[in-house]
Amino acid sequence: MFPSPASVARPQPAGVQSAASLACAPPLSDAARRLGVLPMPNLAWTPEVEAATAHLYEKVKAVMPPVEWPFHAPYVKAINELKKERNAVILAHNYQTPEIYNCVADVVGDSLQLAKLASQSKADIIVQGGVHFMAETSKLLSPEKIVLIPDARAGCSLAESITGADVRALRAKYPGVPVVAYVNTSADVKAEVDICCTSSNALKVVESLGSDRVIFLPDKYLAKNVQAQTKVQIIAWEGACEVHERFTAAEMLRYRADDPSITIIAHPECPPEVVEVSDFAGSTAAMIDYVKTKKPKRVLLVTECSMADNVATETTGTEFVRPCNLCPHMKRITLPKILESLIYLREEIVIEPALAVRARRSVQAMIDLG
Ligand code: SF4
Repeated sequence: MFPSPASVARPQPAGVQSAASLACAPPLSDAARRLGVLPMPNLAWTPEVEAATAHLYEKVKAVMPPVEWPFHAPYVKAINELKKERNAVILAHNYQTPEIYNCVADVVGDSLQLAKLASQSKADIIVQGGVHFMAETSKLLSPEKIVLIPDARAGCSLAESITGADVRALRAKYPGVPVVAYVNTSADVKAEVDICCTSSNALKVVESLGSDRVIFLPDKYLAKNVQAQTKVQIIAWEGACEVHERFTAAEMLRYRADDPSITIIAHPECPPEVVEVSDFAGSTAAMIDYVKTKKPKRVLLVTECSMADNVATETTGTEFVRPCNLCPHMKRITLPKILESLIYLREEIVIEPALAVRARRSVQAMIDLG
């Protein structure tokens, strides 16, 4: 079924094998200085690797041709062995690729689910399959654990649209108006707001504050979608998700014209016109739940591309139409980088303690709301 070992040529992973690569390797993290660096495992595609990972290929075979598996399987095997050795837990957001989501992750879900579940685990180390603000949220909820992001450049257009200084300026402009921050924000921003929210509880959080005006940041589209459901006046920041804002209502209507029976499910980071022509709008967790419980025959998930692949591995009887907007930040996280993260314990998330206390308070305020 799979290509033979001899036909699979593999470049060596970056940064370990040669003296030249060692010379330009980044400095060791504090965690690596304390716990040590592990040797790079053998990453050849062998009959032993094939046998050890066959059950994991079964999970992804609906979305991955056999020719691809020999490139992933040695990493999958090595990562699953090293995470035990490190007592690490790997988190994978719903937008991670299927080989990460299905084959090495211990916890999958949206960013808050991941951070909450990881904080309950007995692991010493969290490896975040996701973007930087998610790793920060995990660190806020698990301050005693080592939290690693395999590529520190994995950012987010929403989180990068606003800083803590911007929030302080908003407070000066609108004195006394409470501030709600979507979890897609940096710890610096979370430290300045009253409470956080997710895309599933945003309306509830806004209405819980007992104020007729609320500052809502950073996503202007999520703000508009919440505004459509409440009498509270929302003062929105002008941020947007570069993935979801590309969808248009005209595109959705074309899909509907081609197949009037199609079910369209949109994420509320999409523009309101897209949400309006959809059958349902909800967070990634709510979208998955909708597909699993309603079992539509043909569904269009109006969100990041990998999510349809991941839901397809967990469901039968539903055909997924993939408009396929990729998040370039999520795609920075790969199996080779996760492996290197476990070997070198990098990149370690460090949040200044006083700032962490204030940022944790706004996340905890949301959790306490239930
Ligand atoms: S999909 Fe959008 S909100 Fe999510 S990480 Fe990418 S840019 Fe940020």
